[in-house]
Amino acid sequence: MRQPLVAGNWKMNGSRDSVKALLDGLKAGIGDVTTAEVAVCSPHIFLGDVQSQLDGSAIAWGGQDVSVHDSGAFTGETAGSMLGDYGCKFVIIGHSERRQYHGETNQVVADKFAAARKAGLIPLFCIGETLEEREGGTMEDVLAGQIDAVIETCGVDMLGEGVIAYEPVWAIGTGKTATPEQAQDVHAWIRARVAKSSAEVAEKIQILYGGSMNPGNAADLLAQPDIDGGLIGGASLKPADFLAVCTAANA
Ligand code: PEP
Repeated sequence: MRQPLVAGNWKMNGSRDSVKALLDGLKAGIGDVTTAEVAVCSPHIFLGDVQSQLDGSAIAWGGQDVSVHDSGAFTGETAGSMLGDYGCKFVIIGHSERRQYHGETNQVVADKFAAARKAGLIPLFCIGETLEEREGGTMEDVLAGQIDAVIETCGVDMLGEGVIAYEPVWAIGTGKTATPEQAQDVHAWIRARVAKSSAEVAEKIQILYGGSMNPGNAADLLAQPDIDGGLIGGASLKPADFLAVCTAANA
């Protein structure tokens, strides 16, 4: 039985004041979330505040990216050990915005997966296809390339120490959600792809859906057998909306 996980991706939003208000709201309502694990992935600059506000609560936290390097002359980067120092449990890697705007290749993402594990962090490993790739019939090749790079670099057992987040690029921040059937089909395909390397890892690995998930569509998406939770962008910035998605993951 895979425990549902709902993780918020705040992206590059917020201020120290708004983070405090958001976390106060989440802490006040988290008692209703009985089954799912809940986490928030904050801009790194706020992680000290997040740690002091969430320490001892039922909400975990994480970063949004990690360096492939351990330390040294890499201006602007954050090492996995630094995220660990701030109590992070998770780190998002391979988000489509980093692949698109920062040129992260499948190999770089695989190296980041390894760096996250080396630091004891759980990678929230994002994969997904663009609309052109879906409509052009190359979706499966794209997803396979993203998954296989991690398996080839890290091994399938290490993949199984992370979480996969299927985020169709065309659904991120657009208000266009994959239908529950579309999402379920891809999640089942991803699980089958992992099963080619290890049936055991395929069975246990959590596969989250991400892409405009909100209180209105979460229950239908989360009811699908291969959808084990959500990675939530926009709706994670509003306590009531994020908590409603977390509650939908209770069932
Ligand atoms: C995301 O950025 O991971 C995401 C899923 O965003 P949104 O929910 O806003 O589509």
